[in-house]
Amino acid sequence: MDIRENIADLRRRIGEYARAAGREAGEITLIAAAKTRTPQEINEVLAAGVTDIGENKVQELLDKYEAVQSADWHMIGHLQRNKVKYIIDKVKLIHSVDSLRLAEEIDARAAQCGLVKDILVQVNAAGEESKFGVAAQEAEALVCEILDNCSHVRIRGFMGVAPAADDPEDVRVYFRQVKAVFDAFRRSSHERLDMQYLSMGMSHDFGAAILEGANMVRVGTAIFGPRNYSQPQNF
Ligand SMILES: *Cc1c(COP(=O)(O)O)cnc(C)c1O
Repeated sequence: MDIRENIADLRRRIGEYARAAGREAGEITLIAAAKTRTPQEINEVLAAGVTDIGENKVQELLDKYEAVQSADWHMIGHLQRNKVKYIIDKVKLIHSVDSLRLAEEIDARAAQCGLVKDILVQVNAAGEESKFGVAAQEAEALVCEILDNCSHVRIRGFMGVAPAADDPEDVRVYFRQVKAVFDAFRRSSHERLDMQYLSMGMSHDFGAAILEGANMVRVGTAIFGPRNYSQPQNF
């Protein structure tokens, strides 16, 4: 696997989908989803010009944080409240906020650090039991609760995860639902609401996500190759 070639190819494909959707490649932020990857691999990605790195687990993020070149880190996986304190000053954006209790913990820790933390609300549009996130119909209420209760949190958009499907065309309807919620909030105004990011799409469905309006894609396999969870991770 040549990471540099994979990224060049990925950027070309992102550009094609962006143009097909009437936008420019430069409007799409590429986040390298780095779970199970080594600091060396992440450094290769950074050397190839990618600036944003996503992690799913707090411990993995902390283990790699010091070992890689400077980057913009994103928390893209489920976040437990008792771990917020470890990452609050390390990540640029938390994508996976799906409860008021989690937002309140982020708020409290951000206040302690003198920060206002940027977050996305995670929407589980297909209502899958196995996935985190709020239903599209509940997203509005959660956004309002967070705005009312969390003065050190700024809501920057939504993250959507689609169900696995053989044909990405089949999940466009779910991406479209998250985009509709995003658009509805873009028209409302609040000092801690700055709807800018729609984080949707992974290796197998980033094209469908971009066509439906995503402007942040989280891509792992198409950059690094297949993951091997069974290998002991020494980094
Ligand atoms: C692993 C992961 C990705 C990337 O998945 P790939 O299929 O490897 O591109 C994106 N988002 C989240 C939340 C992930 O956990």
